Amino acid sequence: MLRVRDGLKDGLGRNITYLRVSVTEQCNLACVYCKPRTGALERAERPAMNRNEVVQLVQAFTSLGIRKVRLTGGEPLMRRDLETIVAGISPEVEGRVHLTTNGLHLAKRARGLRDAGLCGVNVSLDAADRGAFERLTRKDGLAKVLAGLEAARAAGLKAKLNAVVLRGWNEDQIVPLARLAQTEGIQVRFIEFMPYQGNGWGRDQFLPADEILRTVREGLGASLEEEPVAGLEEGPARIFRLPGSEGKVGVISTLSADFCDRCNRVRLTSRGELKACLFGGCPVDLLEPLRNHASHEDLTRLIRQALTEKLDCHPMRRGEVPQFAGGMWQVGG
Ligand code: SAM
Repeated sequence: MLRVRDGLKDGLGRNITYLRVSVTEQCNLACVYCKPRTGALERAERPAMNRNEVVQLVQAFTSLGIRKVRLTGGEPLMRRDLETIVAGISPEVEGRVHLTTNGLHLAKRARGLRDAGLCGVNVSLDAADRGAFERLTRKDGLAKVLAGLEAARAAGLKAKLNAVVLRGWNEDQIVPLARLAQTEGIQVRFIEFMPYQGNGWGRDQFLPADEILRTVREGLGASLEEEPVAGLEEGPARIFRLPGSEGKVGVISTLSADFCDRCNRVRLTSRGELKACLFGGCPVDLLEPLRNHASHEDLTRLIRQALTEKLDCHPMRRGEVPQFAGGMWQVGG
């Protein structure tokens, strides 16, 4: 495939190198910060992209300069053909295919995914305590997730933990999760709770990154040494070393200190819509043209056009209400 030499840029000249692809809207958890509290907001079903369509659309992006792909959802492990999708995408990005998963089905899939070309996995784990996990996710699944994490590491996948923090729900899990990172020598990244369609976000539940870090410092009784800021391809987190361990904690401060000026990412929903910003912009349908035999050039033109409209910053920063194109479980986080 012919690749452009100077990469993919948006209308503001930001280099776009990272694509998040949601492969399904289905999920086997109903996390309180993600799923709507009522079923009323679910959009009418449209079948997800099939595996060939996922690979073909990813190829259109990689031909323009995307260098890293993350598969997400919904819960990506709900797809039986995930290994085939990974195998189709991996050569396109020289093996830089990652997965974000709740880890429930990871124990039995980790080796197969690695063999298919998966490089790393982020496991969402918002609590180290069984009861707290069940309250947040509405399922008694902590043991399965920990087994999945262990299997991923045993298979040689790079593994990290992601924890969304909600005041009144799991701020008491910050220190236990940091301790888990310390004893396991793993990285845990705490994510600020973001408002999204139907997730009941409120200021009273929002815990800013600085407060999360203060809780870690006080709970561990240790100062934290910040690592130099890595390129955004390593993610938008600020990372801190934990004393006496390979473990690290990170914070992702989407709201309190956003990183929009360095944004390098775009999203493809499981319905084949390109979303240039998590919080706004009209989604651009790529699947319908693909199904109507659009050429590679047509698809890349649509992608470039959509990126000229990418927002300079997320709308909340200007005090505006974001335009959602579905829930977080539909866009993929
Ligand atoms: N099912 C997979 C999982 O649990 O990781 C992938 C989908 S999930 C939507 C992707 C990421 O979005 C997870 O790390 C999740 O914690 C995060 N997420 C979902 N809703 C969020 C919210 N309201 N604020 C911050 N992060 C959120």
